[in-house]
Amino acid sequence: SKKAVLGPLVGAVDQGTSSTRFLVFNSKTAELLSHHQVEIKQEFPREGWVEQDPKEILHSVYECIEKTCEKLGQLNIDISNIKAIGVSNQRETTVVWDKLTGEPLYNAVVWLDLRTQSTVENLSKRIPGNNNFVKSKTGLPLSTYFSAVKLRWLLDNVRKVQKAVEEKRALFGTIDSWLIWSLTGGANGGVHCTDVTNASRTMLFNIHSLEWDKELCEFFGIPMEILPNVRSSSEIYGLMKISHSLKAGALEGVPISGCLGDQSAALVGQMCFQDGQAKNTYGTGCFLLCNTGHKCVFSDHGLLTTVAYKLGRDKPVYYALEGSVAIAGAVIRWLRDNLGIIQSSEEIEKLAKEVGTSYGCYFVPAFSGLYAPYWEPSARGIICGLTQFTNKCHIAFAALEAVCFQTREILDAMNRDCGIPLSHLQVDGGMTSNKILMQLQADILYIPVVKPSMPETTALGAAMAAGAAEGVGVWSLEPEDLSAVTMERFEPQINAEESEIRYSTWKKAVMKSMGWVT
Ligand code: ADP
Repeated sequence: SKKAVLGPLVGAVDQGTSSTRFLVFNSKTAELLSHHQVEIKQEFPREGWVEQDPKEILHSVYECIEKTCEKLGQLNIDISNIKAIGVSNQRETTVVWDKLTGEPLYNAVVWLDLRTQSTVENLSKRIPGNNNFVKSKTGLPLSTYFSAVKLRWLLDNVRKVQKAVEEKRALFGTIDSWLIWSLTGGANGGVHCTDVTNASRTMLFNIHSLEWDKELCEFFGIPMEILPNVRSSSEIYGLMKISHSLKAGALEGVPISGCLGDQSAALVGQMCFQDGQAKNTYGTGCFLLCNTGHKCVFSDHGLLTTVAYKLGRDKPVYYALEGSVAIAGAVIRWLRDNLGIIQSSEEIEKLAKEVGTSYGCYFVPAFSGLYAPYWEPSARGIICGLTQFTNKCHIAFAALEAVCFQTREILDAMNRDCGIPLSHLQVDGGMTSNKILMQLQADILYIPVVKPSMPETTALGAAMAAGAAEGVGVWSLEPEDLSAVTMERFEPQINAEESEIRYSTWKKAVMKSMGWVT
């Protein structure tokens, strides 16, 4: 049969906290041609601990690549048209592996993990000079969230990691590094690198000089030789090289030429290239990023300063202000897996629709403490305002409302830091398929919520970076390259007064969630 004629294609690995995807786009229109998705296991070995198996993550990538290529074949699309591959990934999650065997030396310690709370407390007592030592260099507060303390914990507690460091066999990386090293050959010549966006989430990276910071590495006690090389977000890092024992060999030799942390990738995929443009992504957590151009803006309201992207070795760096919410989609997964009141995440919409209100019930899902704008590790989840009348539908509704209130809090902080309020909110991520959530969000923010018809903006951003790289050059990053993407708008429908009353009750509930752990 005749093969379809298309422009050059670009693939993207989107390795998230909940799932892995591989997607293939037409670089001429940004049309998504085919994809495959696999859910990833999360292990909770102790209260507050969250781990994933790096091998399972890697194999899920192989499986997604293989299945996507099969689907393209069924569409008569020739996979030799795939000219580049981009990687976007859950950020901060920490892996240490053996460079001689390719074996991980411990599970991946996931960004949500709280085991480093005492590590953080001890470190914060020893901060040299003024309290701004870490924040002024990294843009981040000293918190369990970032990689440096997770790596410190592994060095302190895992004999295999200590031994491998002594024997100079250990490599550290966030998920992007682990995947790129493995996909470019692993123990047989794999490339050990990361990009500036992922590096900026380790708390070891100086966001001004764009280099690993010696003083920070000393402060955290991290041997610098285990760190990956830091590259831009768009350049050829290496070529796909997959050992013969594994499948997915179809893309052998294709350059891997884009790499962005998932939130940066979404910012690129939403074309937020101008100062003041922002997007909010609703996945496991919820992350609002606002492009601040070439300057680092430091927040007075609990937001992070982070590297947005650097699309080429000789291109300038862009920064962003970020509001991070730890638990968004994760609360829906919790209702599914821990309470069993729904069988699938999509079912939450049906329950919420049945009641259309939480009936005074508020759910603060502070499972991992509270991130922005509070940065309160002592908080834990609460459901309050219960009466005899409350049922599971109200709790489902309150869970969705919680995601919207948390977004409202970071948007308020963003508006205060930036001075110019956002006129609308660009959104994406797995949860945005939920129409009730989108309408609620518009009602609670009292501005329109705008969602692209193609929700995979994270993958799209990684594909764009890969396709635009020097030596690939199939994507120009001009708006007309996104002609396949249309927008859906949700306008606020309830009045501002009603929305203010609900929001202030939410804040009361947040106060009650604090101080549970001392
Ligand atoms: P990540 O990138 O963090 O892996 P995704 O963007 O893939 O996350 O979104 C997955 C999350 O969204 C899961 O936590 C899931 O519970 C939630 N989710 C998926 N579909 C829905 C839905 N229809 N309503 C509410 N939540 C949803």
